[in-house]
Amino acid sequence: MPHLQSVRQLVVAAFAAVAILSCAGTLAAADKRPNILFIFSDDHAAHAISAYGSKINQTPNLDRIANEGMLFENCFCTNSICGPSRAVILTGKHSHLNGFRQNGNRFDASQQIFSRLLQQAGYNTAMIGKWHLGHGGNSDPQGFDYWEVLQGQGPYYNPPMIRNGKATKYTGYTTDIITDLALDWLKNDRDKDKPFMLMYQHKAPHRNWQPGPKYLTMFDDVEIPEPVNLFDDYEGRGSAAKQQDMTVEHTLTAADLKLTAPGNLTPEQRAVWDAAYEPKNEAFRKANLTGKDLIRWKYQRYIKDYLRCVQSVDDNIGRVLDYLDEAGLAENTVVIYSSDQGFYLGDHGWFDKRFMYEESYRMPLLVRWPGVIRPGSRNRDLTSNLDFAETFLDIAGVEIPRDMQGASLKPLLSGQTPADWRQSLYYQYYEFYGNQRAAHMVRRHYGVRTPQYKLIHFYNLDEWELYDLGKDPHEMRSVYSDPAYSSVVKELTDEVHRLQEVYQVPDDQGSVPKDPPSLHPNFKPQRRQPAKKKAAKK
Ligand code: CA
Repeated sequence: MPHLQSVRQLVVAAFAAVAILSCAGTLAAADKRPNILFIFSDDHAAHAISAYGSKINQTPNLDRIANEGMLFENCFCTNSICGPSRAVILTGKHSHLNGFRQNGNRFDASQQIFSRLLQQAGYNTAMIGKWHLGHGGNSDPQGFDYWEVLQGQGPYYNPPMIRNGKATKYTGYTTDIITDLALDWLKNDRDKDKPFMLMYQHKAPHRNWQPGPKYLTMFDDVEIPEPVNLFDDYEGRGSAAKQQDMTVEHTLTAADLKLTAPGNLTPEQRAVWDAAYEPKNEAFRKANLTGKDLIRWKYQRYIKDYLRCVQSVDDNIGRVLDYLDEAGLAENTVVIYSSDQGFYLGDHGWFDKRFMYEESYRMPLLVRWPGVIRPGSRNRDLTSNLDFAETFLDIAGVEIPRDMQGASLKPLLSGQTPADWRQSLYYQYYEFYGNQRAAHMVRRHYGVRTPQYKLIHFYNLDEWELYDLGKDPHEMRSVYSDPAYSSVVKELTDEVHRLQEVYQVPDDQGSVPKDPPSLHPNFKPQRRQPAKKKAAKK
């Protein structure tokens, strides 16, 4: 036991102990780890963001994130569909390991997810908006101190929601409401002694693209440019591109096209809606369009409504960025914008997603981190939603679990891509059920993308496609059988099989009945030519 020579020494020692304790207390209160604001939307293609060079709209608030941060040119999803992309982001694992291969699966949020790891590390965590991974039991959001989510897909107007397990209901436009709830949490409900991680997730601009009251007539007086392949005939590709059910021409419904009004509007909302759409619909009915003119009209109606929904997302992101400035939070908050996958904006004559073709495969990814990211920078490395969980953990200084399959983007954010960064990405899409109808009828496929090429295997058809992305950016002609590409085919076939080993992909081919490469009669999209189909059977 140490001897204290005098009372004076005792007093000095006591003061020192108090000083050390109070210093530790100060450190705990001023946790300077960065906040993480993850802004997410649903089906927002990069080519509908002006920072990505959109030819059809302006998104000033998203552009602001890009201008003050970094734009990722080559971020791709592992499985181009809503629920699966969200499950990949939470777990950092491909669909076959996180258990959510296709919409309709139930997500098990009791598995290792990044939100819980951040919560355990002292972050104040919240999930507000679209969850879309099921409800009840282990499918509810987990690892969040606060959550309020849409029920399932959620409507564009007057959404019923679930807050920490209890039903809530709002009147108004869902994109605005989700933002109000996110701002309310940031202002009033979060624990200000902790850094926060907020997932602020929109339903928009998912089908069926119902604009908010503010934008019902936006673009009424302009014609949106058509994509170069709006009238694609699918020559040069295999059966899958020909068999899908997602064309602007055939698949869009009267509700999609706003020829009928949404059923859940209040009388006031309905009056505003009808005042906007009825004159347009009346003009359409009078015009009696057919053939290409009708397709062109459908494209204009579809794309304008889609872009109107995007405009409300952009506006609301502006509100949140402004709040970060006002509250003095902008400097120490990493702001990320992304969407669960891309979307066809009339490209190939389509809407929807699922295929590994560029427009629905690419994800927008914008990140702002003052003091770390050089403003206005662009990154061209191959990145993925498989990397998001790892990135968030790394930003927070939390150890990345070894069984997560992606890589932290943190070094890329500071402009220092590791020398051994990946040169290929693995993809697999599952939502097809043998002879049963599936939404949009896109065949199962896996594939690999490199900076230059893309190899796709529609494995239940056993059809392969290869695209030279440098020469054929719109993927109009597969060069799989071109002898000039035989060495590329060999190299990429080896690579896709190597990636299947690395990512522990099980053999999925037995789980769907095999079909002949020629179209099985039952696969014909039913909306196509029902009369002819019946006649052919007789
Ligand atoms: Ca989606």
